[in-house]
Amino acid sequence: MLNKILYNLKNYPDDLCYHIGEKDYTNKDLYIYTCNIYEYLKEHCNKQDKVIVYGHKDIYMKATFLACSFLGITYVPVDVSIPKMRRERIIEKTCPKLIIDASITAFIDNDSYTDITDIYMQDDDVYYIIFTSGSTGEPKGVQITYGNLKSCMNWLMDISNVHNDVILNQANFSFDLSVADFYLPLLTRSMHYIIEKDTQKDFSLLFKELHKSNASFAVMTPSYAELLLLDKSFNMDLMPQLKTILFCGEKLSKKTVTKLYEHFPDIVIINSYGPTECTFAVTSTVVTPDTDITLGLPKPDVDIYIVNDNLELMNDYETGEILIAGASVGKGYLDESLNAGAFIRFKDKPSYLTGDLAYKVNGKLYYAGRKDRQIKYKGYRIELREIESLLNGLDYICQSVVTVNTNKDGDINRIIAFVKLKDSINISSKEIKAYLENHLPSYMIPVIKIVDKIPLNENGKTDEKALLEGINYER
Ligand code: AMP
Repeated sequence: MLNKILYNLKNYPDDLCYHIGEKDYTNKDLYIYTCNIYEYLKEHCNKQDKVIVYGHKDIYMKATFLACSFLGITYVPVDVSIPKMRRERIIEKTCPKLIIDASITAFIDNDSYTDITDIYMQDDDVYYIIFTSGSTGEPKGVQITYGNLKSCMNWLMDISNVHNDVILNQANFSFDLSVADFYLPLLTRSMHYIIEKDTQKDFSLLFKELHKSNASFAVMTPSYAELLLLDKSFNMDLMPQLKTILFCGEKLSKKTVTKLYEHFPDIVIINSYGPTECTFAVTSTVVTPDTDITLGLPKPDVDIYIVNDNLELMNDYETGEILIAGASVGKGYLDESLNAGAFIRFKDKPSYLTGDLAYKVNGKLYYAGRKDRQIKYKGYRIELREIESLLNGLDYICQSVVTVNTNKDGDINRIIAFVKLKDSINISSKEIKAYLENHLPSYMIPVIKIVDKIPLNENGKTDEKALLEGINYER
């Protein structure tokens, strides 16, 4: 994979490979930046050191990832949208050799360069670490090896049929959703077309950008497509070249597929499934409004089992937990104490117990929700317990319960934290929210409701239903 990327960078210097803001970059530009960073890192780091790369989709971020990869250094992407306190936790956990701010480019921005001839990354080396929400109240780092990534990209090239395309990016580089749109262009001589966070916030800018992109292939979450579909003008006239959308990251509904077909009658929709721990995705299928929305079939070097709590195999139509075994299963969490019970060996293969529920029919997988309190909200993976732990760590809070409010279709419309304060404490929900905003990304910030008591149900468990009914009543 890295050989091919290096070959493409060197041999097709005039290919446009990256678009961000108003700027297009060629392979030659990206290659020169990469060579310069490679030289710098070679002097300052050893193989398998960890380097945090901070920024927001800058070309230099891409160049730094590549330089690290060629040298066998593990990169850890950290987007600027991650709040300071969380960034500090990530730095503490990573213990990086270097932190590179990809917006500070003085030391790489020159015309002279030395060609890269040696690639040091090996299959078992940790290629990147992506941090995701953790149920212990801390973000957890998922380690993905070069072998994992190679297997993912070979499979993605097979199922996506991309070549000389324009590939649209949605996610920032600290989410594993971006792995597909990051590496596919480098391998298929395509252009990586970036949509920055400020553009995403402004629909009129966003739609202009979508039109200008001429994108033929897009990687996105269903939530993002649903957001775009709110506007009638998200259609073939806006994006006449758009041939394929690769979905991943959350449940794709029939409603979304049907609507997309109305707006783009010739579109190919691929539904793929997988957790960050198993390198972007491990199953896929093409879906249409006339087919069942399944997760499809596993990639060839991965086995998917549906198991019960004793790891016994379930029969067709019986719901159990998805266990993923084989080449995509990552090296485990950076904090090894979290691995037990999640990263296991099954049938003598490295395996991961996902917490996802599903059943199989004729080998095809049907998604059936989660076993635990992990949710997907606006396409983001969130452990409700992470928010709860932060709240419970505050000395003026007696107890908190974080839950979600859903609409009639079962879609989450907000996260709500019910908070009981210690006696005689006088603090507003605004102040509590401000505290959370320093620690959590904006998509994890709940609505705060201060309550007098946290009710229990007949089983002695928190009565979330009663709490939620309370707020409906208030409204
Ligand atoms: P992440 O690690 O952020 O990619 O989130 C992984 C989780 O997203 C999985 O464990 C599932 O719960 C959910 N997920 C990913 N893809 C799908 C899909 N196609 N359908 C339903 N849920 C999905």
